[in-house]
Amino acid sequence: MSMMPTCREVARSIASDELATDSPLRRLLIQWHLFRCGDCREYQEQIRGLGRAVRATYGGSEGQPSDIDRLAARILAEPPGKGEAASPADPTDFPNADRS
Ligand SMILES: [Zn+2]
Repeated sequence: MSMMPTCREVARSIASDELATDSPLRRLLIQWHLFRCGDCREYQEQIRGLGRAVRATYGGSEGQPSDIDRLAARILAEPPGKGEAASPADPTDFPNADRS
C-alpha cells in the first residue's frame, strides 16, 4: 500500500478546506504529487483561477492574494512538522509581573 495520495484525493484536497487541516506529512505528499503530476497541477491552476474569479466577484481588492493563494504559499513555506503557531509568551518571561 502506497502512502501517495491518488489524483482523486489530491483534487479533493485542493478543492476543499481539507488541505488546511491535513497533517504536514499529508500536505507534503500532496505537494509531491502536484510536483509530479501535470494533471493535478492543471487542476490546481483552475481552482486558483476560480479563486481569483470569486475574489473579483465578491469585491476583494486586486493584488491581494486570495485565501487559496495564501494557503498555497503557507504550505510551500512551511516545513513539515512545524505547523504549530508560536506559543504565547511564557509567564516566566516576566518575573516581576506579580510585584506591586
Ligand atoms: Zn495527479
